[in-house]
Amino acid sequence: MHYVVLSRKYRPQSLDEIVGQPIIVKSLQTCLDNNKVPHAFLLQGIRGVGKTTIARIIAKCLSCTASTKVSKPCCKCKSCITFSNNNHLDIIEIDAASRTGVDDIRDIIDACQYSPVLGKYKIFIIDEVHMLSKSAFNALLKTLEEPPAHVKFIFATTEINKIPETILSRCITLQLKPVQYNVLSNYLINIANKEECKLNIESANIIAEEAEGSVRDALSILEQAIMIVDDSKEILPDSILQMIGNTKYQFIDNLLNNIINGKIKESLTILENIKEQGGDTFNIFKQIQKLLYKYIRDTACGDINKYQLSHLLYLWQILVKQTDNMKNSIFPEYILNATVIIMAYISGLPKLEELLNNNNEVKSSNEFLNDVLKQFPGANIKEIY
Ligand SMILES: [Zn+2]
Repeated sequence: MHYVVLSRKYRPQSLDEIVGQPIIVKSLQTCLDNNKVPHAFLLQGIRGVGKTTIARIIAKCLSCTASTKVSKPCCKCKSCITFSNNNHLDIIEIDAASRTGVDDIRDIIDACQYSPVLGKYKIFIIDEVHMLSKSAFNALLKTLEEPPAHVKFIFATTEINKIPETILSRCITLQLKPVQYNVLSNYLINIANKEECKLNIESANIIAEEAEGSVRDALSILEQAIMIVDDSKEILPDSILQMIGNTKYQFIDNLLNNIINGKIKESLTILENIKEQGGDTFNIFKQIQKLLYKYIRDTACGDINKYQLSHLLYLWQILVKQTDNMKNSIFPEYILNATVIIMAYISGLPKLEELLNNNNEVKSSNEFLNDVLKQFPGANIKEIY
């Protein structure tokens, strides 16, 4: 048997199986079962969150000829079976990333004229629809304004802002959210079980966080972890961290604490250790940013009072400024090192608040200034301030 990637192997076959999109699923079930199906849907959301999968399931539901409930296709009729075999004649899938031109859209418009072969509808799924050219959108618009009764369009996009308003206003938009970490973690544990591997909650959380709400990305990381797992079949947090180039929370925590305390040398040593253990430059930078944000949030909310908020915010500004430098540099490693040095150096300088609050220091610096001024007859300390 040929190898099938996890995201395909476990691709949901019905609306009930969709992970982490309860509101979308409920709305779709309601509109399908009440026969209030718009002639064009637009599915919007980040990569790997289930847009194409949902588009296909909608098409399957609308095409099934035997089910009494539209949202629950029978999975047995000729339409459902040909759908499963990916050769349904009435469901036409187009990747707009590779077919962007007006001629490609004209082919679709021509195909609209013909009646469906198996079911009630001819359904066009256009993935990455934002990639269509301006003339292609214009050509599509006419059909979208007055589509034949047997035609449905399902568009999917990661970049809704690139779609003309005229097209958007003729679609029902469904916004898919990034999947919540806990939902994604549980899903991963379940899939690992099916693959006869043990994935504990700590490992699952690391994957979920790295995937940032994308089911496909999470499955791809799990898949890599399964490939390298030893005979115990237990996927350990350390091996995942190493695989994705991430570093243990404690190490980054230690690094950031040294930076905040102005310890340049110690910070650099910890940074080198993290790199030696396989920490990826960009991931380390991202992790520092994530953790600093956590410190800022906790300090601002009063949950921790270890740090000065103004100090953390200043470090945050440095990190934000360095983000573009990281992306554009051909030596991102140096940028990371320099960022750590800058942040630790700034942290080691006396704080403005401390200087202002410390009367003694201000007084002594006044005295010092007075001494200096004595050498310049006629000068006045008040003029200096
Ligand atoms: Zn069916």
